[in-house]
Amino acid sequence: MSPSPLAVAHVDARQRLALATALATHRVWGRLDQDNLHQSWLGLVGDVLAIVMSGQVAAAQMTGPWLNELLGSENEDRPDADQVVPEAFAGVDGAGRPLPGVLMAPVWTALRLVTAGRPIVQALVAGRSLLDAIAQTAVADVGRAADSVAMTARPSVTGYIRVVEGGACSRCLILAGNEYQTDKAFLRHPRCNCGMEPVTREHRPRPASPNELVAQMSEEQRRKTFGEAGAKAIADGVDLGQLVNARRGMSGASVLGGRAVTTTEGTVRGEFRRREFRRLQAEGAIPRSRSMRGFRPTVARLMPEEIYRLADDRQHAVQLLRQHGFIV
Ligand SMILES: [Zn+2]
Repeated sequence: MSPSPLAVAHVDARQRLALATALATHRVWGRLDQDNLHQSWLGLVGDVLAIVMSGQVAAAQMTGPWLNELLGSENEDRPDADQVVPEAFAGVDGAGRPLPGVLMAPVWTALRLVTAGRPIVQALVAGRSLLDAIAQTAVADVGRAADSVAMTARPSVTGYIRVVEGGACSRCLILAGNEYQTDKAFLRHPRCNCGMEPVTREHRPRPASPNELVAQMSEEQRRKTFGEAGAKAIADGVDLGQLVNARRGMSGASVLGGRAVTTTEGTVRGEFRRREFRRLQAEGAIPRSRSMRGFRPTVARLMPEEIYRLADDRQHAVQLLRQHGFIV
């Protein structure tokens, strides 16, 4: 058994979109002036932002038609049913941080390496790799957020199962087919393209378990996913759960950096502020010598996953989602 072909196709289409978006950002990165990294990136980052945001909007636009095809249109008996607003999801990363700031990180990475005396080619490759991860994750996160919002807004949906992408890593594979409540944070890692399939009373997908998936894999695929030693351990009958620590390096979108961003107030004071300061310092955006005095982090947008966490119940969640413009 496996997830519905429609759910797999949806995950695949989003993966292709995320990759295409990342490749388009690579081309802009290639236009960097090597002698003037920071200044020239400032001139290019607007193009990159436009590329990533249109990828995000396209990802969120896939949600409505997909759900209607999978579960049938809810509009027939509920003409005023909530609809996802694709544009509301764009322009921020999974943690709700504005993309213009996030997209500066690749050039800081490159600059830090150049300053450390590394060859420019190496610095550029490292920067581009970070840009790639940001672009892919930003698109995939928006697609998943739109899916989860649309599912939460449909009363018939009781939960979702995890659909792992083709060639998923071991951490995702071990979560294959798990069923969650619609408002449960989706665990993912950078560049993760896994997705969800809704469960309703009538629509009950029977996804493959991790063990079934592994049984279908070739020897070669197992080595690629679990490593040489892992593949051997599986052949020896070692339990998958013992082999893989599924939570390592995984987080919900709104808790990417560690603790969740709760309120606007919380972002300008306290722990979040300290963490953001340290993060920006580590990325080279803020000189090491500067103190934290006067530092105000860019306020993050309240993201759907955070809304679920704050809501008393599902009805409240839908109300907050509407208030924040994610659905109309
Ligand atoms: Zn994944």
